[in-house]
Amino acid sequence: MLGLFAHPDDEVFCMGGTIAKLTDGGAVARIVSLTRGEAGQIRDVAAATRRTLGEVRARELVGAGAALGVTDTRCLDLADGTLANRPVEELIETAVALIDEFRPDVVISFGPDGAYGHPDHVTVSNVATLATARTRSQPIMLHAVFPRSEQLLVGLIVDWLESLDDRFRGSEEFANGLMLFANGSSMLGYAADHLDVRFFPAGTFIIEQGEPPGELFLVLSGSADIVVESDDGSLNHLATVGPGCFVGEDGIARGQPRNAHVVAAESVTCFVLSPGAASPSAGRGSTSLVDRFVGEGPGAELPPDCIEVDVRAYADRKVEALACHRSQYALRADMFPPSLVQGLFGVEYFVQADSAAMSTDASQG
Ligand SMILES: [Zn+2]
Repeated sequence: MLGLFAHPDDEVFCMGGTIAKLTDGGAVARIVSLTRGEAGQIRDVAAATRRTLGEVRARELVGAGAALGVTDTRCLDLADGTLANRPVEELIETAVALIDEFRPDVVISFGPDGAYGHPDHVTVSNVATLATARTRSQPIMLHAVFPRSEQLLVGLIVDWLESLDDRFRGSEEFANGLMLFANGSSMLGYAADHLDVRFFPAGTFIIEQGEPPGELFLVLSGSADIVVESDDGSLNHLATVGPGCFVGEDGIARGQPRNAHVVAAESVTCFVLSPGAASPSAGRGSTSLVDRFVGEGPGAELPPDCIEVDVRAYADRKVEALACHRSQYALRADMFPPSLVQGLFGVEYFVQADSAAMSTDASQG
């Protein structure tokens, strides 16, 4: 199996679980990235500088490959961000040479949408598909598909929090890791949550008792008091929460109005996950939950003849591989509970590309 991608880390999101499953079953795999990803993010200054990023990401690909059972990884050094501007024939020749050298049964890359429209991804998809049709061995060409899931990260997190005996308090590293993980997951359609970072000046309500639930808050900075208001208006201070604490999970789990106020004691910043953006007309207090969120809409249907690969047993290795891309995903593999990881990453989707038809189209136009 040959995975042909644009950047180190593309392989994990497209097919990390499938790679691990295949190599576990004895398949021989090679992963090639056309660039070293030197135009990417630097999410950890300890991991790389702009000067070293390409070299670091090439090394990270080796580590991620090892986590997925692949010892044969390769980074070409085409300039990151420029693939769409290069002569396509030159890229196709490069890809044909790679395929003819390795002679895989299957080539896997992005679909024509490049997962989310990244020009490098779109180009590598096109190039890999056209190249496959021109090779002597004519391997099967698969495109990774990212159907928009209706799965909500907020639901998975709430289930997990409710299963714990004590209030969870994550580290700053956890908070950062979860934000990166949630952003990546929602961008690729693994999860449908609305994500937001909100600031609450000291003395303002983060949650008002009696409100319908829906939003889950992860405190990033500052501290907040959890206060229960009795029928006679008296206030009972229950707890103070700080960075790394979640608030709001009980109401969501029970589907009941908020049972306490959460008030910013000092200025608080929260990462907020919800099923949709808050409706502009939603008031506060005990308004109906139905009007409160504007949903993201239903998930798209799977394309016809979609291949669904059950990778639940390999989801943890997918996160392990993601964590190897430290400069991009500053997270630790054991940071998230297995239920969350399997819920998000349990299935990977592919469609078989009709390479021959594509090459005809390309030669005509
Ligand atoms: Zn990429």
